Amino acid sequence: MSFETLGLGPNLLRSIEEVGYTDPTPIQQAAIPLIIEGSDLIGIAQTGTGKTAAFTLPMLETLERLTKDPARRGKTRALVLSPTRELVVQIHENVSAYARHLPLKVANVYGGVNEAPQKKALRGGVDLVIATPGRLMDLMGQGCADFSGLEFFVLDEADRMLDMGFLPNIRKIVKDLPKKGRQTLLFSATLSRDIEKLTKEFLYRPKTVEIGKRINPAETVRQCIHEVPKSAKLSLLKHLLHDNDLYSVLVFTRTKHGADRVARQLSKSRIPTSAIHSNRSQNQRARALQDFKDGKTRVLVATDIAARGIDVEGITHVINFDFPPNTEDYIHRIGRTGRANSQGEAISFITPEDHGPLRLLERKIRKTIYRKKVSGFNLSRSSSATKFKPYKSKESSKSSHSPKKNPRNRNQKSGNSRRHSGQRRSSGR
Ligand code: AMP
Repeated sequence: MSFETLGLGPNLLRSIEEVGYTDPTPIQQAAIPLIIEGSDLIGIAQTGTGKTAAFTLPMLETLERLTKDPARRGKTRALVLSPTRELVVQIHENVSAYARHLPLKVANVYGGVNEAPQKKALRGGVDLVIATPGRLMDLMGQGCADFSGLEFFVLDEADRMLDMGFLPNIRKIVKDLPKKGRQTLLFSATLSRDIEKLTKEFLYRPKTVEIGKRINPAETVRQCIHEVPKSAKLSLLKHLLHDNDLYSVLVFTRTKHGADRVARQLSKSRIPTSAIHSNRSQNQRARALQDFKDGKTRVLVATDIAARGIDVEGITHVINFDFPPNTEDYIHRIGRTGRANSQGEAISFITPEDHGPLRLLERKIRKTIYRKKVSGFNLSRSSSATKFKPYKSKESSKSSHSPKKNPRNRNQKSGNSRRHSGQRRSSGR
């Protein structure tokens, strides 16, 4: 199937060609025609499936088609709510690329930065607003936004917005949106009971599009586990980073403090690293992300919330330095690599405390994750090695997932296109 058959006009097809997409992804094939035909939509899809384009392309198509209608001029016609600043910026980047040949104005609204330009943009009547719920509520409270002509309302990453406690804000925002003539789209990685309730509250006769099984990690990500005592995690991480195949690496820690500590230690070992978490200012977070995107840093250490939706091309490895306590976080984390069908690898450090959550994860994904011994790393040097008891799942012996020989065998969106500065290729040695 090609983009031409989905009902998109020539201006959008031109931008799609310019950004380099050749074929629509499964969620795009399923969602674009339904949105163009005017249905409310529930999209259940993991990150990295192309879901942002799945809702922005048909929305832009409809907005462009009706752009000459004078009644619609000067009014905000589409609102996208997303849980984090990083995601808002990312959606904005995508929309700007897709809408480059369209006469539409787009604005971002998120906290942690000066309100004035955002107020001005809202008052000026931009066509499309991409916002986090908190800041948008503030500005709506100050009478800056006019959503009386709203045609599209999108809730992106709805499951995470609920986790982050945004529901009361979202309800207040929705109360001020017109009910008539509004098309509502909701995207979520999972369809929990709470999300189902939300869809009944906000959507009208929605169609549902579900891509892949709800809780299966992206199929393009190879997963493995290293058993390691807590005290040896940092040495193991440094050891793994000796391998230059770990080229663009996202490391997850459970706490902000932990993220800072790991970043500090890696930097001391001359591995270009930065950290991203909610204690850092908006500017620091933006800089850390940009440096990582540009390949100036090889490693980005993040907490779950800060890393939500991070879309960096060619992340080759995700490392769970701290194993996440719940399955959803695991799936979101590993979805940062292997995006849009490129190959990626997810490595999890497992301490005895993680055996419970690991067992739960393996039961949910119906798969035993490959236990891998790290060659050349001497666990017995670790102080706690004598007390260390590796975890064996019942099915370890018939592990279903062994890694391929050549981890660099990636397709078009691979890390090969990212180039680090010379010193990084040998750093950490
Ligand atoms: P998303 O799931 O929206 O975060 O998208 C993940 C990545 O896939 C982004 O980097 C997009 O630019 C990319 N992408 C989206 N649609 C396509 C497509 N049809 N072909 C190739 N890459 C795509």
